Order: sequence, then C-alpha cells, then structure tokens
Amino acid sequence: MSRPLFPGATIGVLGGGQLGRMMALAARRMGYRIVVLDPSPRCPTAQVADGVVVGALDDIDAAKHLAAQVDVITLDTEHVPADILDALHTMVPVRPGPSVLRTIQDRQTQKQFLDRLGVPQAPWAPVGSAAELDVAMTALGGSAIVKVRRAGYDGKGQVRINVDDDRHAKLAILRGEPAVAEAIVDFAREISVVLARSSDGTIELFPIAENEHRKHVLHLTKAPARMPADRARHVSDVAVTIAHALDHVGVMAVEMFELPDGQILVNEIAPRTHNSGHFTYGACATSQFEQHVRAVCGVALGSARALSGAVMVNLLGDLWAKGAPGWQHVLALPNARLHLYGKDAPAPGRKMGHVVVLDDDLDRATADANAMFAALTAEPTQKP
Ligand code: AMP
Repeated sequence: MSRPLFPGATIGVLGGGQLGRMMALAARRMGYRIVVLDPSPRCPTAQVADGVVVGALDDIDAAKHLAAQVDVITLDTEHVPADILDALHTMVPVRPGPSVLRTIQDRQTQKQFLDRLGVPQAPWAPVGSAAELDVAMTALGGSAIVKVRRAGYDGKGQVRINVDDDRHAKLAILRGEPAVAEAIVDFAREISVVLARSSDGTIELFPIAENEHRKHVLHLTKAPARMPADRARHVSDVAVTIAHALDHVGVMAVEMFELPDGQILVNEIAPRTHNSGHFTYGACATSQFEQHVRAVCGVALGSARALSGAVMVNLLGDLWAKGAPGWQHVLALPNARLHLYGKDAPAPGRKMGHVVVLDDDLDRATADANAMFAALTAEPTQKP
C-alpha cells in the first residue's frame, strides 16, 4: 500500500458525469483537489472541479496529461479502456486498478469470473455471432435477454427475445456486437449492496438497498431493505466475496435479483459509486462519495452506519419535456433533498438529478416520494 494521500492532494477523475461530480463535491469539502478528463469542458464534474483536461476517455495523450497533474486516478465510469489504465498506472496509482476493469467491463468476462467464484447468477450463454444465438436460446429454454458484452448500461445495448419472436431480427438490433444471453429471471424484487473497500482489505457496507426500475432504468431506491437477518448476511457476504476476489479499491455496487423463495442471483457488478447508493448522502454517516474518496486516497474509511431511512427517486429528462420541472413540489417537502447534476440538455431517459426523502418510516417516505414525483409529472412547470 502506497502512502496515504491527505487533503491537499489532487485526485484525477476519468469521466465527468454525475458520479464524478458528487465525488468531487465530497472531495473538495474535505480539502482535496479535483481534475477531470472529459470531452466536454462543461460536463457535470468540470463545473465543480479545480481543473479540466478536455479529451476523449480513450485519448491516451489527454489521459497522460491528466496523470501528470494528479496524485491518484479514479473513474466515474467503468467504460474506460483498460489499456489506458495500464499506461496511467505506470505514472500514478489508479484505483480501482486495470485488472478490476478488465474483469468487469466485458459482461462475458464478468460472468465467467462469477462462475469461477461460485456466485449464483442467471443461466447464461455466449452469443459471439448470429450462429451462436440458436444454441444459446435452446440452452436457455427459448427466451432470453441478450446484452452486448461491452458498453451497455441502463437497458441500452440489450434486447429481450421471446419464444415466438423472430430471434435473428431481434438480435440485429444489437448490430452484430458480441453479446451474452441471459435467462429471464422472474424475480420478487431487485436489491443492491453498495460497499467501500480499501487497499488493506477493510470493507464498510452500506445498508442494503431495494430498487425499482422503469424501462430498465433505476426509478426508486428504498433503504434499508427489509429482509430476514440471515438473508441480509448472505447478500452482504456475496458482495464482500466479490470485492475481495477482485482486489477492488473504492466503492463498488453489486446488483442482485431476489427470487420469490429468497434465493439470490447476482445481476451485475459496478466497480464505482452507484445510483442505488445515492441515498447514502444524508442517510448514512459517510456518503458513498466521501467513502470512495477515502478509499482511493488510502485513508481510513468512514462509518457507513445509517442515520435515517431513505427513499431516492431519479429525475429523468422526460420531466423537462415542457420546461423546468415544478421544483416547488420538491422544495415544499422538509425531508426531501434535491440533487441536480448541471446537465444542460435534458433528453428522455437521461439522468438529470434525484431526490432523497429522509424518514425512518419507509412507508411514509415512499408515499411522500411517490406523491412528489406524481406532482412533478402532472404539473411539470415552475410556479412561484
Ligand atoms: P442491466 O443493465 O443488465 O442491469 O439491466 C437493467 C434492468 O433490466 C435490470 O435492473 C432488470 O430490471 C432488467 N433485467 C436485466 N437482466 C434481466 C434478466 N436476466 N431477467 C429479468 N430482468 C432483467
């Protein structure tokens, strides 16, 4: 373990989205400096950073220019080419390291890794070519969700193929990209575990989150998820096993399906801060963003203890269809915390911000969050 980096040190971030922005806000509060690499000088992270290097995430010269200015490098997306991370790693520590990214950023390698670890996941089969599709679909019982191996997220780069579909026509939607097919899971609910791991192997687990998706995009998170203690232990153990096996450093999320009989299947791993961990800002003693800063800087992790129950609702660009949303509906709720990411081009499905409702009574928090979201949807313009 290299020497700890204390406040005053500079953190480089590859990618300037909302995750980088919220990490930068936490880092700067603590006295760290932030420099971000992103194609846009006005990206969400650049707006709150000390410096920005404008360039693509696969531009090795731009990435080296960033590395020359910082003490450690981290990322707000796992879709940075691992070869770039290898090159940067010779200049400054990169956390998480290139090998974590190599395992995670290709769905097939990720699934093989989970199989080797003995972690349960949905049955799957490779779809490297159209010819392999028939074999995969037969193996999985005739229907499946086919996902591109690289760079898919929030349901992008995936297609559901049902028994009666023209499966090759459906596959063509993925434009010949190498893919994997997964059996369709009839889950009771989706949950996630967000944790932080430091390079000495210390782990802090945030409360388990329960997630509701709409059109494959996270809509709402409730935490802590209600579940029997032995299942909660098992779910946490699965995430901890994965984090240690990867030798991950930083925050990591493991998305899981919970089946009606209580069985747990891992859906996917995100080697970074995660949308389902946004509630930790306000609801936990240390947010996932501060925790990530602490882990990548090699200083002690904070406590992930819950201070409150919470419900988080995502605000997608759809809410901007008729102009700025009616913020009065959010600001009138005393327990609601509004987070906006500074994105100036709202588009349907684009994550623009979120609201966290803090309340130990999760039923009341859910009712408040749903009423607030319904009001934003029904009356989407600002009123004084
Ligand atoms: P992903 O991007 O792979 O996390 O998929 C986004 C969402 O699609 C998940 O959170 C689920 O709601 C749904 N989904 C993905 N894979 C499956 C599956 N094998 N079975 C059922 N639903 C799935």
